[in-house]
Amino acid sequence: MSVKGKIVFITGASAGIGAATALAFAAEGARLLLAARRAGKLSEIASAALARGAEAVHSIDLDVRDRRAVQKAIDELPEEWSAIEVLVNNAGLSRGLEKLYVGKIEDWEEMIDTNVKGLLYVTRAVVPGMVVRGHGHVVNLGSTAGDLTYPNGAVYCATKAAERALNDGLRQDVLGTPVRVTSVDPGMVETDFSLVRFRGDSERASKVYKGVKALTPEDVAEVIVWATSRPAHVNIARVLLTPVQQANSLLFSREES
Ligand code: NAP
Repeated sequence: MSVKGKIVFITGASAGIGAATALAFAAEGARLLLAARRAGKLSEIASAALARGAEAVHSIDLDVRDRRAVQKAIDELPEEWSAIEVLVNNAGLSRGLEKLYVGKIEDWEEMIDTNVKGLLYVTRAVVPGMVVRGHGHVVNLGSTAGDLTYPNGAVYCATKAAERALNDGLRQDVLGTPVRVTSVDPGMVETDFSLVRFRGDSERASKVYKGVKALTPEDVAEVIVWATSRPAHVNIARVLLTPVQQANSLLFSREES
């Protein structure tokens, strides 16, 4: 199935995996609906996407944690942007790396509100239209963290375990319609993810990737585009991808420097 001319809605499109996914769909000639909070970054990605071949781009300044804003953004889409074919639920983040019993409750709330509730709000706003139109594809960003909890990361891992349950649940609930549901679950991807987790501490963030050739955001984007361009009767339920130097969320083979 070609995504050329199809409307692809990507949350968290201002950086990392979301931005790379926007550019990968742009190269296929898709029409891109891009959402994130940082309007400036989003507009840079929008220009790059047009240069890369996107048929058109429409950007939305959106915080997925704001339930009403999410519904309003979808309800008020210009007519020519309303038939969303592919939804990529990518917006997400981690905050802090601490033992659960001393973790910051504000950090937990931010992760749960974004990674779980935000994903639910966007899904709830977009999927009814897909069911009515009789086609659509939801791609959720999971993680190896959803398979296996790592120490000091229990709440982030729990949000990704929740994503897995929601992905499976949605796939069951759209059964009988042509809507497809896929979870793309990467291991370590080098993005701003760790910089966000450590609130701008770049030294600490760079140590996360030390001695490992991490996945690039483009590696993940390629899988997302692949999953959405299978023939209409094929549903890719889940793709788990890691760097060769990573076996799971706990086990790495790091090169000594
Ligand atoms: P990133 O480079 O930090 O990008 C995160 C994106 O999410 C940004 O565009 C950010 O945009 C957006 N975002 C965060 N909070 C948001 C909110 N409340 N409303 C709207 N957008 C929001 O991180 P990334 O690595 O690309 O992460 C993307 C997804 O992949 C996340 O779901 C993450 O959990 C998952 N993932 C990452 C890795 C990894 O190793 N990097 C591995 C597995 C899974 P604004 O700040 O402009 O809003």
